[in-house]
Amino acid sequence: MSAKPITIVGGGLAGLTLGIGLRQRGVPVMIWESGRYPRHRVCGEFISGSGQETLARLGLRDKMIQAGAITANTAMFLSGSASSHARTLPKPALCLSRFTLDALLANIFRQLGGDLHENERWRENNYTEAVIRANGRRTQPTSNGWHWYGLKVHARNFPLQADLEMHIIKNGYVGLTRLSDNDVDICGLFRRSADGTDSTIRGAVGTLRPAIPAKVGREGQTQLGFPTAPRNELPRGWQEALGENDRSNLCDRLLKASIDQTSSCSVAALSLHPQRAANLSELCIGDALTMTPPVTGNGMSMAFESAELAIEPLVSYSLGKFDWTHARQAVANACDRVFSSRLAWARWLHWMMFSPIFKGPVAGTVLRSNWLWRTMFTHTR
Ligand SMILES: Cc1cc2nc3c(=O)[nH]c(=O)nc-3n(C[C@H](O)[C@H](O)[C@H](O)COP(=O)(O)OP(=O)(O)OC[C@H]3O[C@@H](n4cnc5c(N)ncnc54)[C@H](O)[C@@H]3O)c2cc1C
Repeated sequence: MSAKPITIVGGGLAGLTLGIGLRQRGVPVMIWESGRYPRHRVCGEFISGSGQETLARLGLRDKMIQAGAITANTAMFLSGSASSHARTLPKPALCLSRFTLDALLANIFRQLGGDLHENERWRENNYTEAVIRANGRRTQPTSNGWHWYGLKVHARNFPLQADLEMHIIKNGYVGLTRLSDNDVDICGLFRRSADGTDSTIRGAVGTLRPAIPAKVGREGQTQLGFPTAPRNELPRGWQEALGENDRSNLCDRLLKASIDQTSSCSVAALSLHPQRAANLSELCIGDALTMTPPVTGNGMSMAFESAELAIEPLVSYSLGKFDWTHARQAVANACDRVFSSRLAWARWLHWMMFSPIFKGPVAGTVLRSNWLWRTMFTHTR
C-alpha cells in the first residue's frame, strides 16, 4: 500500500520542520504557505530549550550553524536604572535571523522532495483528515482589555552588555539579541489599553505619530500600515511604543542605532492565552496550537518540538497503522504532556513582567535573585 499524503497549512518553523521530518521518512507532503521566502518575521531570534535537540536529531542544527547561527551564552534583565548582572545561561541558546532560518528550512524541505506552494493561502475553514494546522498564532483583537502587538527591527554595530539584553519598560518588554555579522535583533512585545486610557505619549523618542492601525486581523508579518521612517531612523511603530516611557537608557541607545529599515515588521492581535491540544478538534502544531509569552524565548523551540512530536503518529497514519482520530489524539496528548507545565510557568513570568515587582523600588533585588532566574529559566522550557 502506498503512503497516504499529508497536507500542512503554514510554512513557518513548525510546518517546515514537520514537513522535513515526514519527508525524511518517505511520506508525501504538500505545504501551503501564504507568504514568500526569504522574509523577516517578528521574533527575538533567540532559540532556547529542547527544540535545539529536535533540530540536532533532524540534522538541522549543523545546517543552521553553517548558515550563520551563533550561540548566546549570557543574558541580563534591565528595568529603568535597575539591572541584573550578565548571567551565564544554564544552556546556551542559538541565534539566527528568521530571514535566513525560514528560507533555509524551505530549501531543505524542497531538496527532500517536499511540495512547497509559496504565496498560496489555504482558504478552507475546515482542517479535515490529513490536514495539519501550522498557520501560526490565532488572532485575538483584545485580551483582558489590552491590545497586544509585537515589533522587530535589526540594527548594525549596536554594542550589547550580554548576548541577550531583556529590557522591561512601562508597557512591555524589548529583547536585544546578538546575531552574526554585527547585527542585533531588536524585538518587543507591547500592550495598549483597548479603551485608549494609557495612550498618553510623552515624546521620549522624538516626533510621534499615530502608528497602530485600526485593522488588527491576520496581517501576517507585514508593515501593518506604519509609515516608513527615513533611513537610519527608528521606525514609527517603535516611536509610539517607546514614547509611553520616560527617556531611558534603552531609548537613547535605540536613537543612536544604525537601523536596517528593510527588516522592520510588526504583528498585532496576539493571543497569549494558553490552549490545551486535547480541547482542539484539529491537529495543530506551533503557535496554531498555543503561544508561549515571548519573554521565555521558547516559542520557536515549541514549534520544533511539537513538529517532532507529530512525526511518528503521522507516519503511522500515512502507512495505515493509525486512523486519523488516533493520530490526532496521539499528537495532542504528547503536546499537552510536554508543554502544560511550562506554559503555566510562562504565564506567571509574563504576569511578573507587567507587575510592579520588576518596576518598583524592589526591582533591583528581584532582578538580581539567582533563585528566581534559575527557577524561571528551568521551568519555562
Ligand atoms: C514579539 C515576539 C517575540 C518573539 N521572540 C521569540 C524568541 O526570541 N524566541 C522564540 O523562540 N520565539 C519567539 N517568538 C515566538 C516565535 O516567533 C513563534 O513561536 C514561532 O514563529 C512559531 O512558529 P510557527 O511555525 O508556529 O508560526 P509562524 O512562524 O508564524 O508560521 C506560520 C506560517 O503560516 C502561514 N500562514 C498563515 N495562514 C495561512 C494560510 N491560511 N495558508 C497558508 N499559509 C498560512 C504564515 O504565512 C506563516 O509563514 C516571539 C514572538 C513574538 C510575537
